[in-house]
Amino acid sequence: MQKREKKRGKRMEQGRAWIELDREALRNNVDVLRARLPKSCRLMPAVKANAYGHGDVLIAKELNRLGIDAFCVACVSEGVKLRLAGVKGEILILGYTPLEQFFMLKRYDLTQTVVDYSYAVELNGYGERLPVHIGVDTGMHRLGERSENLDHICDMFAMDNLIVDGLFTHLCAADTKKPSDRAFTEAQAKAFYRVAEEIEQRGWARPRLHLLSSYGIFNYPEYAADCARPGIALYGVLSTKADTDSWGKKLCPVLSLKARVAAVRTLREGEFAGYGRQFVARGKTRIATIAIGYADGLPRRLSNGAGEVLIHGRRAPVAGRICMDQTIVDVSHIPEVKAGDVAVVIGRSGAEEISACELAERTGTITNEILSGLGERLCRMTVCPKQQEEGFSWPFLHSSL
Ligand SMILES: *Cc1c(COP(=O)(O)O)cnc(C)c1O
Repeated sequence: MQKREKKRGKRMEQGRAWIELDREALRNNVDVLRARLPKSCRLMPAVKANAYGHGDVLIAKELNRLGIDAFCVACVSEGVKLRLAGVKGEILILGYTPLEQFFMLKRYDLTQTVVDYSYAVELNGYGERLPVHIGVDTGMHRLGERSENLDHICDMFAMDNLIVDGLFTHLCAADTKKPSDRAFTEAQAKAFYRVAEEIEQRGWARPRLHLLSSYGIFNYPEYAADCARPGIALYGVLSTKADTDSWGKKLCPVLSLKARVAAVRTLREGEFAGYGRQFVARGKTRIATIAIGYADGLPRRLSNGAGEVLIHGRRAPVAGRICMDQTIVDVSHIPEVKAGDVAVVIGRSGAEEISACELAERTGTITNEILSGLGERLCRMTVCPKQQEEGFSWPFLHSSL
């Protein structure tokens, strides 16, 4: 960057719409999760889907600095991106990698999940020695070799080209403590540990075991093994607002989503705004156009007053339909709004807060979907809120892509 550009740095990077990552919040969440687990249990955070929309490289590197040396991603391309950016430690691909991409596993030092027995045969037949974690299906029936097929699972240990570093399962009802779900989860854990015992009984060294994701860590910490795979909780929220407000109270949201006010104008009574003329001015109305739209991940279902943004610490309802790149909001009650101001879409402004959970609730989905849907076009940057001045000034910028 040229010197002059560097001076402009923060403002320039923020552009029209951006994401701020609070590194203190991330550190807090790591501590909260570690405190729920035995000391010997290593965190292996899920940074798939661009770290749930947060920005995988920034998050993984910050986690590296916090002493975390293992990560989970969904696919090869996510692992490669982290490696090329210099992320250290083990990177486990939780999902399926096709044969044509096997060469990338070795080249980028990625660990592949064995999704079932026939996949183990295919991976072993590739002809390179590769580190793997074996997925065990204990009742979710998504990926993993069935826990009953002990012979098949143990056979994988005898395969010359598979270096079995881990054995894991995924709990699919750990988000509730309803008696029926509790019984189901207990059966899953039991089936998993039964497989681990059998492996040892047959003389194989016990690989690292892991089965807990965020909800497991909160609801079933007694099943903690050698590693845990938190995703959503690490980002400071849980899947629903109710869960976040109850079990998730100690977590702090890592992400804020902000956008600029691009233009402000006054409508006369009877004038319309936006596509389909869905917003009608009931009297003299001031509206502001915000530089963010559904292509950035702001759900279009928040149109027509279903959603709000914060400007100067007050809520401004969405006026009419959210567009691909812009959103119009009603700011009649916020007279000081001007072009260039910052609108908070997720995060705090003054005494008000709009959480990702609130957006999820308003759109009938879970927080995970809102966050992971945040678009590539948004610039991601880490901030240290302690160094952030009050009000609407530019946060202290530590790093960015
Ligand atoms: C995504 C994922 C996780 C993380 O789940 P959270 O609920 O976000 O904590 C853990 N394990 C597997 C297998 C996953 O696919």
